[in-house]
Amino acid sequence: MSIKRGVLLVCIVIFLCPVKSYAEKIVVIDPGHGGIFSGTCGYSGNQTGYCEKDANLSVALILQNLLSNSDIDVYLTRTTDTEFSPYLHNKEGESIGGDLEIRINKANEYVQGENDNSIFISIHHNANSTNPFIRGIETYYYDGLNHFNPKWPHDPMQLTYLGDNLRLAQTIHPRLVNFLGLPNRKIHNDESFYVIRNAQMPAVLVELGYMINRNEEKIIKTKEFQQKAAEALAEGIKRYFQAYDVLDNNNQKIATFDEFTSALIFMGLVEESVKIFNKDTQEFVFERPSSEVLSVN
Ligand SMILES: [Zn+2]
Repeated sequence: MSIKRGVLLVCIVIFLCPVKSYAEKIVVIDPGHGGIFSGTCGYSGNQTGYCEKDANLSVALILQNLLSNSDIDVYLTRTTDTEFSPYLHNKEGESIGGDLEIRINKANEYVQGENDNSIFISIHHNANSTNPFIRGIETYYYDGLNHFNPKWPHDPMQLTYLGDNLRLAQTIHPRLVNFLGLPNRKIHNDESFYVIRNAQMPAVLVELGYMINRNEEKIIKTKEFQQKAAEALAEGIKRYFQAYDVLDNNNQKIATFDEFTSALIFMGLVEESVKIFNKDTQEFVFERPSSEVLSVN
């Protein structure tokens, strides 16, 4: 049977296949820092008292509001100016009981059992100790395969989301650059930030401009900028979920595609693929009816 004919036959039986509700879509928004941990205070924060933690929280709260009418469940690690622990590292220099550990544990608890259909977005603004003129937007994801550092161990589950991390970064980053009009300082996979390497779900950390830059700090503090940043993130989050997972018999994901037809063609070529899951509607939209139908000569 030709590939074309195989795909056609599969298409014909799609509508006969069972459709089953599966899971929730969840985003955990993490406004970086908070309370005694101010993050960078940028160019003028030491005088004005407005630091990174404040800008991070403002964007996060607008984003929460923008997504409140969507079919995505939204959780925030914090909704007020507060820390999770009085320290980042204990006396032994470990993260146990520290602010970042408690923060990501909280995020992971929100999504327990729904990890594959959840995402984690940590919102930050940037600083640079040597260049006060630096500008632009960066997006980070954890790449534990190519940039593993034994000094910074990760949650084992995070490794399974490497492809999703990249897709999430590639979905969100260009929207941030376009919406905000700041220089594109690219997507990076070579930093092992604690929260993204310990998220039990696909995760990115975004740096929405440099507060150390006098002009950029001024822009970052405006409601207009914060609204646009939240809109870019909301659009990116919604787009991320508009995808199709191809799963094996044990519901393990084999691949993800933006288009249903691409997922279907993949199924025709890869024998162990048996189901297609629509991440947007959170339903199985196709199950392999029989091995004959998909056999390709
Ligand atoms: Zn930060």
